[in-house]
Amino acid sequence: MIKFLDLQKINLSHQEEIEERLLKAFRSGWYLMGNELKTFEANLSQYIGAKHAIGVANGLDALRLILRGYIEMGLMKANDEILVPSNTYIASILAISDNRLVPVLVEPDIENYNIDISKIEEKITSRTKAILIVHLYGRVIFSDKLEALAKKYNLKIIEDNAQAIGAKWNGKKTGNLGDASGFSFYPGKNLGALGDAGAVTTNDEELAKTIKALANYGSNKKYVNIYQGLNSRLDEVQAAVLDVKLKYIDQENEVRRKIAERYIAEISNPKIILPENPEKGSEHVWHVFLVRTEKRDELQAYLTENGVQTLIHYPIPPHKQEAYKDWNGLSFPISEKIHQEVLSLPISPVMSDEEVLKVIEVINMY
Ligand SMILES: *Cc1c(COP(=O)(O)O)cnc(C)c1O
Repeated sequence: MIKFLDLQKINLSHQEEIEERLLKAFRSGWYLMGNELKTFEANLSQYIGAKHAIGVANGLDALRLILRGYIEMGLMKANDEILVPSNTYIASILAISDNRLVPVLVEPDIENYNIDISKIEEKITSRTKAILIVHLYGRVIFSDKLEALAKKYNLKIIEDNAQAIGAKWNGKKTGNLGDASGFSFYPGKNLGALGDAGAVTTNDEELAKTIKALANYGSNKKYVNIYQGLNSRLDEVQAAVLDVKLKYIDQENEVRRKIAERYIAEISNPKIILPENPEKGSEHVWHVFLVRTEKRDELQAYLTENGVQTLIHYPIPPHKQEAYKDWNGLSFPISEKIHQEVLSLPISPVMSDEEVLKVIEVINMY
């Protein structure tokens, strides 16, 4: 069976370095808010090009904390609206509603699965405070038009960069395109920890300070609490592992890119709709290589039978989830079509040429 993602193999490809750093973190006797975190934050902020990087407990918290930070700064309040793509992973939306802000769903573009920028303006009201863009599947979504809209209506641009670390738009990294960005280092992400982990990047010093305090019980100074904060910290062990893996992220994304290029060039089955190559000037990091086909479940069963493991990102759109009952009657036809037709093929930095070829051959015989 060709695995969808062989996490063990990915991590063992850095075995010596990771084990050395883990041992060091273990033996240091210091497990939270120490040198490993400081080092990783400095390296991440340098890699992204943003002034501040703050390690937090996971990607959902990164997004929650950005919005909560803006609330504490007096820039947003309960019932304000945040625009978000209707086909995103549920966490982008949970981060909004958790802060008692209102998620306003915007349909994606069927060509690239990202928020349709031409449909944003019609959704803006006097209560809109931000656009939460999601670089879904590792593909950048950004444009001059998006920036101009944000400026015209005085909106923050928040990036959900959980799937796109290392991607670029006009030479600038995702995570440094808008006002603030949330990262996830969930084990299956392109930069994955050995458990949960996340980060926020921003060039906004006040926001960085606020989030740092919020994530540490609302405190900048031990036993002095300025906010009703939470506990959302990135521990030393995860920071050490991430700091090792960050050095290899460009190399690993390049392997993903090569595999994607081969899939696009060599999959020739007319039943399969392939993703578009990214626009000129942007670099895709292929967190997911997703194809579309009318009889998706049939294709998935066929691939399983022939030794190729696949996943569906995602089977149920957010507006059809029980968690958002009020939305269940709404219609987002493009999202619904995407959720019915997509299938994700294996792609990872440790996939061999033979495995890639086998996936191509099996699909072409379908
Ligand atoms: C993974 C993911 C998240 C949440 O990250 P966690 O670390 O799992 O909390 C948020 N948004 C998107 C788009 C994701 O893929």
